[in-house]
Amino acid sequence: MANLLDGREVAAAIRQQVAEDVASLQRSSGVTPTLAVVLSGADPTSEIYVSRKREAAKALGIQTRDYIFPDGLSQQGTLELVRELNEEKGVHGILVQLPLPKGVSEERILDAIDPAKDVDGFHPENLGRLMLGKPTMVPCTPAGILAILDHYKIELSGRIAAVVGRSRIVGKPIAQLLLARDATVLMAHSRTGNLLAITRQADVLVVATGRAGLIRAKHVKSGAVVIDVGVNRLPGGSLTGDVDFPDVVQVSSAITPVPGGVGPTTVAMLMRNTVRACQQQLCASA
Ligand code: NAP
Repeated sequence: MANLLDGREVAAAIRQQVAEDVASLQRSSGVTPTLAVVLSGADPTSEIYVSRKREAAKALGIQTRDYIFPDGLSQQGTLELVRELNEEKGVHGILVQLPLPKGVSEERILDAIDPAKDVDGFHPENLGRLMLGKPTMVPCTPAGILAILDHYKIELSGRIAAVVGRSRIVGKPIAQLLLARDATVLMAHSRTGNLLAITRQADVLVVATGRAGLIRAKHVKSGAVVIDVGVNRLPGGSLTGDVDFPDVVQVSSAITPVPGGVGPTTVAMLMRNTVRACQQQLCASA
């Protein structure tokens, strides 16, 4: 039976450090890290995510400024808002909640955010720096996954890691982070011919597909560590991951649950990125 990798415990440790960093910033510079939250359109799931992020920020002493447009902002309007926030000295981080309304190019909006304020870490400059192994704003979910692996002292160097899913926000960046830790990284996606042949090699398996129960015990090498990023809503309303938990828990050595695994660490990392952005902007202007 696998050990449970408790994301809530990891997130609590990150939050404690962030709260200390916020207090120390306020003492040393009188500045409160401030996150601008842009929500365009009326998407109930996005509203829940935004309110969770706002509450997490408040609990840590991070200020938030809301830019909420239930009727949706046009592409031009969103670009203008992002440009204003880029210039606004009192704003250290910009979060544009996805998805954006139809007709607004997410890529254009994300690319317009000042990389120094890009607390989601989705800007091409930040992703490029990640690929080159340079200091950067690491996307929150991959950063959270790494924090879980580190918290539980899971060895990566020299081991085989497989990542299922190749999105800009999870799959690609976590593959780079694992590579930077000297893992040998295999990647799989929807066009991978023999998924099982890839995943069964992995000592560490990260799954981010949005396909409930895709990964079964037969996909997992005995004793592997399994990180389930997926969040899927079942017809009854409950949440489940991309991994068939009751099946895979029998063969893996450690596994993240859904909920209570990667999710909590993602929000904690957003807070950490906001404080880091603030620290870096203060250093740059000193
Ligand atoms: P995404 O952009 O839709 O990407 C999904 C990836 O999975 C794609 O690369 C796709 O391949 C691949 N895929 C789809 N079906 C597959 C299959 N049958 N076999 C192998 N690969 C398959 O999704 P995402 O944004 O990365 O999110 C993935 C999941 O993680 C979702 O459930 C999302 O809700 C969850 N998530 C959770 C958190 C958190 O904090 N816990 C954060 C972000 C995302 P192609 O590229 O070939 O299409």
